[in-house]
This record gives sequence, structure tokens and C-alpha cells, in this order.
Amino acid sequence: MMLTRLLRHPLGVPAGTLAITVLAILASTTLLWLSSRLLPWWPVPMSFGLKLTMLLTALVALPFAWALLSLLQRAEQLREQLQRIAAFDELTGAYTRRQFSVLAQSTLARLAASGGRASLLVVDADWFKAINDRHGHTGGDAVLQRLGQELLAQFGADALVGRYGGEEFLVLLPDAGPAMACREAHALRLRVAGLRIPARDGGPIAVTVSIGVASASGTTLALGALYRAADAALYRAKHEGRDRVAQAGGPLGPHCLSCTGAPACRHEDP
Ligand code: GH3
Ligand code: MG
Ligand code: MG
Repeated sequence: MMLTRLLRHPLGVPAGTLAITVLAILASTTLLWLSSRLLPWWPVPMSFGLKLTMLLTALVALPFAWALLSLLQRAEQLREQLQRIAAFDELTGAYTRRQFSVLAQSTLARLAASGGRASLLVVDADWFKAINDRHGHTGGDAVLQRLGQELLAQFGADALVGRYGGEEFLVLLPDAGPAMACREAHALRLRVAGLRIPARDGGPIAVTVSIGVASASGTTLALGALYRAADAALYRAKHEGRDRVAQAGGPLGPHCLSCTGAPACRHEDP
């Protein structure tokens, strides 16, 4: 822990090198002094021997400690970089699938233990293959990047936003019941439908999303079950024409029925 903090500090390597060198000199001169005490016939005069030991130790320890600490610092930088790559999707800024699963599972476990509730949105871009075909992969990437920005802007602080793969995103809303989840989903759908994303070839690009919503509470809070339910709802939203929200557990649930966007939705979770 202390070593990690030292390696992160801009002056960590020179300070560490100095400390190691001083310690090495102390150790070697103490050893010399002890040897001269234990062996009465010690051949080298003490003052000369001490100076020589200090010089030789410094010559060896200084470059060795510098090289070792620089190597450790580089390893620490690479470890942090790797952690970032594993946690965040480079294109969209959302959590990677793996990181989302880890964080969502621990959030759901905490909520389940306290009898709380949560909702999951599965958000999938509509006809995305056609966008790629028309505007090229770069155009498609620009759309994904913008979708990531919109999702993080709407949910970033309170929810977990992950890119599950391709053009599919997951949003876990802790403490949100079906009404709030539907309201948020509709707000997102409207927000995305209003986007005009600049593109190099034949832009701007318009895109819509379909969203499956599932909610659970207490001991039924499990990521796998929430995902399956929300994914089945998403399938329905696609089937019914896309650019819409569908709620798990039947045709459009009462919470989603009259909900057309954040301010317009009249339903509240109890
Ligand atoms: P649907 O409305 O049913 O969801 O249709 P869709 O075209 O969106 O879905 P489909 O699964 O047919 O196509 C998804 C496409 O997304 C295919 C794949 O090449 C593309 N894709 C996946 N990942 C990326 C990416 O990172 N960048 C780009 N540009 N395209 C991607
Ligand atoms: Mg799609
Ligand atoms: Mg998809």
C-alpha cells in the first residue's frame, strides 16, 4: 500500500532510491563495524574501511534501486491502465460487461439485504446494421459514442450504465420501481429520437432505441432474472415496431401505458 502510494508520487522514484541507498550504506557500515569488533585481527583501518564501504555501497545501490523502482512504477502504471481498460468501454465510456456485472451484482445484493428495489433497462439501437451499411462503421461508431454520452448524462450519477455488447446497453436503476423506470426509459427514448448525429458520409444520422424494462424488489433481486425479463420485454418492443418501451410481465404494464416522457408520466411508485 505504502509502496503503491510512493510509486504514484512524481518524486517517488528519486525519494525511494535515496532511501534505499541510505539504508544500504547504513547496513553495510554497521556490518563492517561489527566485523571489526568481532575479529580483532581485522586488517583494514576503520576510517578508511568505512569510507570505502560507503562509496562502494552507494555505487551499487543507487543505480540498482533506481532501476528497480522505475520498473515497479511502470508495472503500477500498466496495472492501472489495464484496470481502466477492463472497467470502461473505450468507445462509449460506459462500464464494460464484466465490470457492469460485478457492480450490479454487489448493488443488488446490498438492496436485497435491505429489502430495497431496483429496475433494469435493456436499451438496444434500432436498425443499427442499416446505419452501419449507410454511413460506414465510423458512422455507426459515432452513433454508439453519442448513445453512451446520452446514457451517462441521464443516468451517470445515480445508476450503473454498461455496454453489454454491440449496440446494446444496460442501465441498472437502484431504488427505482416500475413507474420511475418507465418514466426514465421514455425520457431516454425521446431524447435519443431527437438526436441528429454528425457523420462524415451523408449525415446527420438519426437513430431510435427500443427499451425493455424489468423491476424487482427484496429477495427477487437477481441480475440474471432481471436481465431475462427485460430482454424478453425488449424483444416485444422490437416486435411491436421499435422506437418504444416495453415492460416485463405482460403487455405494456399500467406504469408504462400512459407514460410518454419524463414530465408527462403521471404514475408514481408507491
Ligand atoms: P434491431 O433493430 O433488431 O436491433 O436490428 P439491428 O440492425 O440493430 O441489430 P443487428 O443485431 O442485426 O445488428 C447489429 C449490428 O451492430 C451488427 C454489428 O456489425 C454492429 N456492431 C456491433 N458492434 C459494433 C461497433 O462497435 N461499432 C459499429 N459501428 N457497429 C457495431
Ligand atoms: Mg439493434
Ligand atoms: Mg442488439
